[in-house]
Amino acid sequence: MDRIVIIGAGEAGTRAAFALREAGFAGSVTLVGTEPHLPYERPPLSKPLNGTVHMKPICGAEVLQAAGIDYLQGVSALKLDADARSVALSDDQTLAYDKLLLATGARPRRLACPGSQRALDFRTFSDAEVIFSRAQTGKSVAIIGGGLIGMELAAVLRGKGLAVSVIEMAPKPLGRAVPPRFAARLHARHEEEGVAFHLGQGIGEITDDAVVLADGTTVPADIVVAAIGVSPDTALAEMTGLAIGNGILTDNCLRTSDPNIFAAGDCAAVAQPGGGHMRFESWRNARTQAEIVARNMAGGKEAFASIPWFWTDQYDLGLQVAGLPQPEHQSVIRQLDGGELEFYLDAGRLVAAAGLGAGNSVAKDIKLSEMLIAAGVSPDPAALADPGVNLKALLKSARAA
Ligand SMILES: Cc1cc2nc3c(=O)[nH]c(=O)nc-3n(C[C@H](O)[C@H](O)[C@H](O)COP(=O)(O)OP(=O)(O)OC[C@H]3O[C@@H](n4cnc5c(N)ncnc54)[C@H](O)[C@@H]3O)c2cc1C
Repeated sequence: MDRIVIIGAGEAGTRAAFALREAGFAGSVTLVGTEPHLPYERPPLSKPLNGTVHMKPICGAEVLQAAGIDYLQGVSALKLDADARSVALSDDQTLAYDKLLLATGARPRRLACPGSQRALDFRTFSDAEVIFSRAQTGKSVAIIGGGLIGMELAAVLRGKGLAVSVIEMAPKPLGRAVPPRFAARLHARHEEEGVAFHLGQGIGEITDDAVVLADGTTVPADIVVAAIGVSPDTALAEMTGLAIGNGILTDNCLRTSDPNIFAAGDCAAVAQPGGGHMRFESWRNARTQAEIVARNMAGGKEAFASIPWFWTDQYDLGLQVAGLPQPEHQSVIRQLDGGELEFYLDAGRLVAAAGLGAGNSVAKDIKLSEMLIAAGVSPDPAALADPGVNLKALLKSARAA
């Protein structure tokens, strides 16, 4: 086995390329990426320094070269032939592979209302450049979708002095991934900052200078951004006849229904121990899966079993969530100086934790909480609630037990 091809040069694809070398793989590694840039990080696009969008490369060209990674920049994979083990590219090359990784990420969902072509996407550096350059002269922006990306963008553009409206179909923003307690805090903070919310509202049409809601309300907008979520990019996998669900289905070692093709990151839906598949859109998920898939492509058989984790920054507030909090979990609150933690217990066992505070202030506690979750502990809720009880001490005693 000496040829590995990776399709998609985002977080998962690029990290996997380097992890192959770290795993001792000495054959050829080709990284194919549609975007006309060096691989870059997406999270900074919605957290720009001083309000100016900047590109944070994952690595430089010389680092790719030094690792012997052949990066095909601005090239798309058009078609896979799983029987011949080859992939046809947009530059007319056909690459043969022994193992192939699909790290194609996700694509923004599109609106289907009249005027929807006026709404800007927000997924790539090029999208961010368009939005932030329009924001230099624009006065008002309507963000359709009150999820994490829409709310981060609302905070940044409000900070630049634009009139910001967030339009959301659900009755509350941030309902999908953020625990209700913290979703409510962030919502309140946006309102304090002057963001206007239109909740429980569908879109009638988008005109040249406004978004008209389903109930006829007109929301003035020089700029309209659609942030209504993403769909996994399964186009190549579907064409190839791979098993698809909410993403490219893989086993717990990130192998697809074709034994020579693997998938990782936002495009991959990974088999779960209790049955079913889970897809999780987050930066760390993409990196961790990339590292495991690389070791597996190089001959390992490691199961992916990481605790889901993500963060979001809005204004000066940082939220981190580890695990998957559910409404039926027992909630335990710990007050912190300028912040708050919430722990989630399932039949007494700690299964998730979330924290909101200034900047990065909850990071250490969430890291310790993750270790407690991984240790499978059932801590005393009173100890979890007590800010005087050190989480490190709880971990130590759990380990000793
Ligand atoms: C604005 C923004 C802010 C975010 N902020 C956070 C955050 O704060 N915290 C967090 O945890 N996560 C955040 N995320 C999510 C995180 O960035 C993603 O989960 C992560 O980038 C997924 O990595 P990926 O490699 O799976 O996919 P992607 O980064 O989408 O990379 C996939 C790449 O594959 C390319 N590709 C697709 N098809 C082909 C093809 N046929 N041929 C060649 N190339 C192809 C695509 O062009 C793309 O470049 C944010 C995302 C965005 C957009």
